Amino acid sequence: MNAYLASVIENVKTKHANEPEFVQTVEEVFSSLEPVIERHPEYEKADLLNRLVEPERMFTFRVTWMADDGTWHTNIGYRCQFNGAIGPYKGGLRFQKNVYPGIIKFLGFEQIFKNSLTGLPIGGAKGGSDFDPAGKSDAEVMRFCQSFMQALYRYIGPDIDVPAGDMGVGGREIGYLFGEYRRLKGCWENGVLTGKGFSYGGSRIRPEATGFGAVYYLENVLKHFGEDIKGKTIAISGFGNVAWGIVKKAHELGAKVVTLSGPDGYIYDPDGIVTDEKINYMLEMRASGRNRVQDYSDKFGCEFHAGEKPWGVKVDVIMPAAMQNDVHMEQAKQIAANHIKYYIEVANMPTTNDALKFLIDQKDMVVAPSKAVNAGGVATSALEMAQNSERLVWTAEEVDKQLHQIMNTIYTMSVEAAERNGLGYNLVAGANIAGFERVADAMMQQGIF
Ligand code: GLU
Repeated sequence: MNAYLASVIENVKTKHANEPEFVQTVEEVFSSLEPVIERHPEYEKADLLNRLVEPERMFTFRVTWMADDGTWHTNIGYRCQFNGAIGPYKGGLRFQKNVYPGIIKFLGFEQIFKNSLTGLPIGGAKGGSDFDPAGKSDAEVMRFCQSFMQALYRYIGPDIDVPAGDMGVGGREIGYLFGEYRRLKGCWENGVLTGKGFSYGGSRIRPEATGFGAVYYLENVLKHFGEDIKGKTIAISGFGNVAWGIVKKAHELGAKVVTLSGPDGYIYDPDGIVTDEKINYMLEMRASGRNRVQDYSDKFGCEFHAGEKPWGVKVDVIMPAAMQNDVHMEQAKQIAANHIKYYIEVANMPTTNDALKFLIDQKDMVVAPSKAVNAGGVATSALEMAQNSERLVWTAEEVDKQLHQIMNTIYTMSVEAAERNGLGYNLVAGANIAGFERVADAMMQQGIF
């Protein structure tokens, strides 16, 4: 490996030994950049990479809130404004018990390249809290969100930093966060958050966008191999908002999703999640807060596999859409043994680095990386920002058309970037390179800081 790249990775490993997810994503992105770094010796001269791995700004804040029983609780809030070279910081908020700086930094780092790939003016950021939404009442969530925003509102804004949802943060949370922002600032700046309700500036198609975008990307891959999405079977993990969007669009295009998973296990529905009743039930399951996918098999009478993941099921396409490090080496081997051709990542970093490398090396397998496949979500957030700043509302058709175009462009740009660098048809390296090139170029032009 190029000596400069290797030295930066070493530096990150030493400095962030207690943040393994962050180290993992830096290694993954940098493993694709060798040809670019070799071609641009000026990057090393300006020490671009050591600057890139250091967030421009990252802070924590105290979030104290009252539970329904009158007891007080204190959580940690985070915001990592990782890179603002190509636009205002942009990225979601994750509320989950396991949130710590390593998770926020890994997500923020991924977000830089994902946002760059969309071709839109958005920098990379992420935030969240170790607040555990499981089993909390609406009133508790509201008080938590209000307290969270009281600490954060000074540091965000439509031209500064625009948070959105991620795991544990959906339309309800964004509503409470926006209400508090509006109350504190006393002005109508709805471009400060995305994923809002439609009644106060949310965009049509935003709830569906990540899942729809993933399926549009998949269509591009299938087309490359002369195949049609119609009739394909798809195994996915997760059962949240992203999974719902995939199921909906896959069904619309004549494919069928046959698995869903949750912390309790996975369901296998060989008939496919293809009726309105089944698709809508996914929303009900998520809204119930029970966090159990077994409810689906109880209702529709299909198989439920407790404590397992759906990676042993024989299908045409696998789409991990739940969370990071969902597929390890052992499962990757099983996927290869089942001769599954299309491995399309959707969740952020769902595959461990060794498993990802193993899958890429399989002769008859095509691997697509999450930072490209799931970019439709944040891209549509950028379209929401555009509508907010124009004080206009676009139709669902208009937003969907733009989303579709953006996904096609992301795919094409990735293919071309890999080819240009002598790497053949390599969607993973192509996305890393294309995402990096735009940010690197902007950083170089803006001077060293
Ligand atoms: N959290 C989502 C992501 O990982 C959406 C971010 C956004 O819309 O800003 O890209």
